[in-house]
Amino acid sequence: MSTPTLTVHEAAIAQNTRTLASATSGAVMAVLKANAFGHGIRPELVLANGASSLGVTSIDEALALRAQGVRAPLLSWLNPVDADYRAAILADVQLAVPSLAHLEAIAQAAQAERRRARVHLHIDVGLARDGASRDEWSPLCTIAATAERRGLLDVVGVMGHLSSADRPGDRENRVETLVFGNAVRTAWRRGLTPRVRHLAATAATLTAPATHFDLSRIGAGLYGIDPSGRTALRGAMTLTAPVVSVRRVRPGTGVGYGHSHVTDRATTLALLPVGYADGVPRSATERALVQIGGRRHRVVGAVSMDQIVVDVGDATVRPGDSATLFGPGDGGEPTVHDWAAWSGTIAHDIVTGIGQRVLRRVASLEEASA
Ligand SMILES: *Cc1c(COP(=O)(O)O)cnc(C)c1O
Repeated sequence: MSTPTLTVHEAAIAQNTRTLASATSGAVMAVLKANAFGHGIRPELVLANGASSLGVTSIDEALALRAQGVRAPLLSWLNPVDADYRAAILADVQLAVPSLAHLEAIAQAAQAERRRARVHLHIDVGLARDGASRDEWSPLCTIAATAERRGLLDVVGVMGHLSSADRPGDRENRVETLVFGNAVRTAWRRGLTPRVRHLAATAATLTAPATHFDLSRIGAGLYGIDPSGRTALRGAMTLTAPVVSVRRVRPGTGVGYGHSHVTDRATTLALLPVGYADGVPRSATERALVQIGGRRHRVVGAVSMDQIVVDVGDATVRPGDSATLFGPGDGGEPTVHDWAAWSGTIAHDIVTGIGQRVLRRVASLEEASA
């Protein structure tokens, strides 16, 4: 490939979706937020492999899916109170409700459109982030029940999100699961009939059956990331870049801005045209490895905005050779998990950070089975 290229492997996403769907007796909502965690997939791919609904963060993301012709049930869970709830209701986008102010805004939009909004009340079980506080929960249920009786909305679900599911043994998971169960009971006592209770994301789906309830919202797992590290899923991205040039240098040569690296021997440096603007973390320098010609070589000197330098030693590397920064790992190439470790972050941060100018191609299901 003559330009930096991100290849998305549909077969891996299909397989991961099936793995997650078989890990729960509940339904699977495929989380396609942030351009499907940077993968930009066809929604049909997950819907054909075990997911029955889709989840995104913002109404804009949901409307973009509807504009593509997606008909599946679709939930948007994070919006400001002045978001375009009328457009969401018209497009049959279900909405999470994290506060009384949101409930009021959604009810008003429903009244204006003369259409019932389908909502999921969101309880904060312990993240202190999104969702209604425990104090606000009971009034939220009461007022939602009133709005339901007035024909403005249907409370179809109750949702929560765990703080510590990536640590399966942590007792916080049990505490938060109890908080969620209590919140659901309160909803029923206030006269609501939420049929879809959902708490688990990827990690809890793979490790904690008590959190499964009726549905799991699965993001990371579709893309090969198990935050709990317990289950081997398949990485779904390969990032390659062509070698632009190579130069032979003497021992003691300073490399890149500030000469943060100085060669300790005569060696060959290969230049790759990708940098932090393309999602190569600047903090990975001196630790990161890339694969060229079947061998791993170290990234040296500061990661620049547009380029990195690789010390290939005495290996024969030529301009035009292809370097693999990461892939699923079965050819010995580094993975997004390696890059996360090298840069002190999580794999989610790597996959969602690939820049706009990287060429994107899809390795389709058909290609993989050919
Ligand atoms: C992103 C997100 C998910 C998906 O979590 P994963 O760990 O990626 O499966 C589920 N629920 C909410 C509220 C989210 O924001």
